[in-house]
Amino acid sequence: MNLDLSQLTHWRREFHRFPEIGWSEFWTTARIADYLESLGCFEILMGKQIINPDFVRGRKQAVVDNGLVKAKAYGMNEKWLDKMEGYTGCVAVFDSGKPGKTVALRFDIDCVNVTETRIPTHIPNTEGFASINDGFMHACGHDAHITIGLGTALWIARNKDKLSGKVKIVFQPAEEGVRGAAAIAASGVIDDADYFAGSHISFCANSGTVISNPKNFLSTSKIDIRYHGKPAHAGAAPHLGRNALLAAAHAVTQLQGIARHGEGMSRINVGVLKAGEGRNVIPAEAELQLEVRGENKTINEYMTEQVMQIAKGISVSFDVSYETEVVGEAVDMNNDEELVQLVEEIALQQPQIHSVNADYAFNASEDATVLGRRVQEHGGKAIYFILGADRSAGHHEAEFDFDETQLLTGVNIYSGLLQRLLE
Ligand SMILES: [Zn+2]
Repeated sequence: MNLDLSQLTHWRREFHRFPEIGWSEFWTTARIADYLESLGCFEILMGKQIINPDFVRGRKQAVVDNGLVKAKAYGMNEKWLDKMEGYTGCVAVFDSGKPGKTVALRFDIDCVNVTETRIPTHIPNTEGFASINDGFMHACGHDAHITIGLGTALWIARNKDKLSGKVKIVFQPAEEGVRGAAAIAASGVIDDADYFAGSHISFCANSGTVISNPKNFLSTSKIDIRYHGKPAHAGAAPHLGRNALLAAAHAVTQLQGIARHGEGMSRINVGVLKAGEGRNVIPAEAELQLEVRGENKTINEYMTEQVMQIAKGISVSFDVSYETEVVGEAVDMNNDEELVQLVEEIALQQPQIHSVNADYAFNASEDATVLGRRVQEHGGKAIYFILGADRSAGHHEAEFDFDETQLLTGVNIYSGLLQRLLE
C-alpha cells in the first residue's frame, strides 16, 4: 500500500519546529517512540539497550540538561524518560516471527547550531513551521531522515504479514560531529544484521537522482587533549609552576609533524588551543581540540595512536598531568555491490527518479560508516547512498530547505529494499 505525502510532510514539519542538538534529542526521541508505539508492531529499545556508555563521544552534560528542560517545556511524553536512562535515540525492532534475514536501517535525528532565517520567502516561515528553538535548526535535513524512518515503519506496519525476518530501525542521536554511532555500534544492537542501509538527503544530488555508491568516506577521529599544570608567580617563582600552555604549544608543533603513512592520504588539524589566565601567572590549564583523518581506518588509527603518544610524551617532558578524550569518530566504508545494484534497481522503478549516478567522491565523514562497518565486520552487507532533493541553500545554512516531495521517494526506496530482502 502506498503512503501519502501529506502524512510525511506533516511529520517533517513537526520535527522541523523542534530541532535538538546531539545527545539532547529528548523531545524528538519521545515523539518518535510515541509514533512507533501507536503502530503496535515494534519493540522499542532505548538507553543502555542501544548505547554503550564507554563509547559515547562528545556528550556534554550541560547541553544534555538544557535540552531536557526544553523538551519538557515542549510537552514531551515523559513516560519514556526512565527507559532512556539519560541517552537519546531509539531502535525500533520488528520481528515477523518467521525465519529470514535481519535488516538494519539507520536515520539520524539531531540538528545543527544555526539560527533559522527570518526571510519571508523561506517556506518554513510562510507555512509556519520554522524552528521555535533559537540557535538550533534542522539545517542538514535530519528532519527528513526521521520522517523517512517513520514512513518506513508505517509501511512495515501495513505490510507486516508479507514480511519474514526482522527489521531494526535505528534512530541515531548526535550525527553532527560524528559522535553518536560509536556507542550504538558498541552496544551490539545491530551485530546480528545481515544487511545495513543508511542515506543522506540532498547534498550534491538534485530531485530525481540517487547516488548509489558514494566513495571516499574519510576515516576521522576528533580528539581533545587537556593539560593540567600548576600556577605560580611568573617573576618570583616560575620554577614552582608547571606550564600547561608551554606543554600545549610544544604538542601542537609535534602533532603537525607526525610522520605520514606511506599507504595513503592522512590529515591533521589542531583547530583550537585555549590556555592561560593572566600575563603574570604561569598557565596551569590548556586545551587542544584537533582532528585527524585518513584514507582508511588503518591510517586513521595510526594517526590517532601517534597523537596519543605525543600527548603522553609532552606530559612527561613538562611534568604536567593530561587527559585525552575522543569526542567523535567515523570510518571509511565501501558499499557492498549486491546492495548497490539493488538500490539502483529500486530507485529506477520510482517514476520520480530519472537518473542513478554510481560514482561520486564524498570526501567528507559520516558516522553511519561506523555502523555499516560493524555490520560488515560481522559478515553482513552495507550501503550508504544519497537521495537527491533540490535545496534552497547549502547544508548547515540558515536558509536551508529541501524538496519535501522526495520524502516519499525515500520511503519508497527503503520499503522497496525491505520488500526485496524480506518478502
Ligand atoms: Zn547531515
